[in-house]
Amino acid sequence: MRYQQRGTKVSVDHVIIHPTEEQLRRYVAEAIEKVNDNCKTRCVKMPLVKEVFQSKKGRMEANGGTPSTLPGATSRIGIAWWTDAIERKHVRIVADRTVLENRYVPSIFGFGAAGQSDFWCVYHDKGKLEYKKMVLYCVCGNKGNPEDLEWDGNHCRECREIEKYEQDTGFIPAVGKTHGRRKKGHKGS
Ligand SMILES: [Zn+2]
Repeated sequence: MRYQQRGTKVSVDHVIIHPTEEQLRRYVAEAIEKVNDNCKTRCVKMPLVKEVFQSKKGRMEANGGTPSTLPGATSRIGIAWWTDAIERKHVRIVADRTVLENRYVPSIFGFGAAGQSDFWCVYHDKGKLEYKKMVLYCVCGNKGNPEDLEWDGNHCRECREIEKYEQDTGFIPAVGKTHGRRKKGHKGS
């Protein structure tokens, strides 16, 4: 798990792939404990983790409320999830203890999150919006939205098929296939 400490702020931000409800509950509880860090006020409470398992994609966020004096600190947590082409759930947990200058508590998913997809809330650094459509670039060079690529968080369907072909046969697929070769060291990443 990765933690960052920035002045008075502490934050947790990571993506867990295909967790069980129990595992996810534990990760979320750890994140909350970390950011609340024995604070007496404006602590964030445990969200309803089971909701993550009731839909293919979604998001939820909560905060400890606006501080009574400003600037003041509050805790925030966000959970965003998305299901890939091979039915695995990718769940991002992001939490922090942040100092607010005014009464508005911004979304922990970042500026403009309300207008973005749930996928963006999970993998804001992996895809980019082109004419309001999410576009991903696979390491093999394939490009498209997560559904078209049947992306699994790291690779597209073609990458998985090539990988499987190599594992099954010991051969690299025939020359002439338009699909690009993976970069060195990419395997198993
Ligand atoms: Zn690919």
